[in-house]
Amino acid sequence: MNASHEMDTQVVIAGAGMGGLALAAMLGRENIAVILIDKEEPPRDRVCGEGIMPMGLEVLREVGVEPASLPGGDFMGLEFHTRGQQHTIPFDAARRGRGIRRTSLISALDAQVRRCPSVNPVIDEVLEPIWEGGRIAGFRGRRGIYRATVVIAADGARSRLFRQAGVRFRHRGYRMCLRLHFRVAGRLALDRVRIGLFSPYDIYLTPVGEQEFLSTTMTHRDGFRAIHRDYEAYLRGSPFGAYFTDADPCSRQLSWHQPLFRPERFVVGGMLAVGDSGGGIDPCLGLGMSMALASARRAAQCVTEILDSVPQRERSVAEFDRWRARLFGHYALFDSIFRFLITSRAGSETLLWGMRHWPTTARAITQIVADNRPWRTFRWRELLRLA
Ligand SMILES: Cc1cc2nc3c(=O)[nH]c(=O)nc-3n(C[C@H](O)[C@H](O)[C@H](O)COP(=O)(O)OP(=O)(O)OC[C@H]3O[C@@H](n4cnc5c(N)ncnc54)[C@H](O)[C@@H]3O)c2cc1C
Repeated sequence: MNASHEMDTQVVIAGAGMGGLALAAMLGRENIAVILIDKEEPPRDRVCGEGIMPMGLEVLREVGVEPASLPGGDFMGLEFHTRGQQHTIPFDAARRGRGIRRTSLISALDAQVRRCPSVNPVIDEVLEPIWEGGRIAGFRGRRGIYRATVVIAADGARSRLFRQAGVRFRHRGYRMCLRLHFRVAGRLALDRVRIGLFSPYDIYLTPVGEQEFLSTTMTHRDGFRAIHRDYEAYLRGSPFGAYFTDADPCSRQLSWHQPLFRPERFVVGGMLAVGDSGGGIDPCLGLGMSMALASARRAAQCVTEILDSVPQRERSVAEFDRWRARLFGHYALFDSIFRFLITSRAGSETLLWGMRHWPTTARAITQIVADNRPWRTFRWRELLRLA
């Protein structure tokens, strides 16, 4: 395609990560014409904890990707550690999460998209939104121009499109992140995500195969500088060192700077924000992919409403905006409290002490957050009685 190439379609999506691919697959199943643009060829590896919560697994199944058919490892709950304490929060009996290498998941979603004749995946870097008549009518890419009836930004946590469209953001800090996969000789015994709160580092161990697990670490800038040259040595010397005794690295070490921000709106000029482009929650919650998948499902509903009745556009996008704000608020409140506690040693020990003394409450909060259940389902009276 040369620079003057122009394409016109029903829906254009910038970003074929978790959210963009899921949305394209959902629209493709309805035979809606989609151009899906990403600057990189799949499988688009990047730093991620690779643990998918039950809520995200449900959406994957809806788009035709069966998580159990992909190499990975199930987890039945979360196991928290500090230097002095330990506490396990099990999921409900029927619920389980699954760790899947991000590259496997992206490849599976990409294959699903390629089965849809109405979806046209394009490799290009999107440079800016195109405004026409007070609305974003498409994107200008390095190699072409893409116009559509509905325009979606799914270009991840550093969304260029939302910033360029003039949306103001409230910055909520940032996290420096590292990841490395390890392979063990025998069968892996890791059926819960291990979360080590060793301020200024939090370490997450996720099963991603019968013999493989992933170690992700988050910290501040100085903490990152101190370990990034020899991350493996840091892990082996950390309180989680025993997990690495018979394990060897089996992937490339990657690092990432994750911005945490809250946009004032989730729709601008009619362009909908799917996934991290509409706000950065702290990766410590392990919910970003589930949020991206859930927002893709809601965006698919909004797109079909608009295509069915273009005059209803304003109402449909306003409803999407409100829904998105609620979803973001659900997690942002919790991640601010959690992050505040885990960034100090005293806070981490207090958190674990609280979990151990109020296990029912800790479990109820985890389920509300992980499953996006309304806070009104929380039994406040029980908390007061326990207190
Ligand atoms: C350290 C860490 C640990 C995490 N752990 C977990 C976890 O355990 N569980 C979980 O659910 N989530 C986790 N997350 C969050 C999760 O990775 C993200 O929330 C999720 O990937 C967001 O999906 P997305 O589709 O919005 O963006 P992405 O998956 O980032 O996709 C964005 C896509 O847009 C493309 N793109 C960007 N700019 C352009 C452009 N200008 N033109 C064209 N294409 C472009 C990129 O190439 C990319 O493919 C973690 C994140 C971090 C940083």
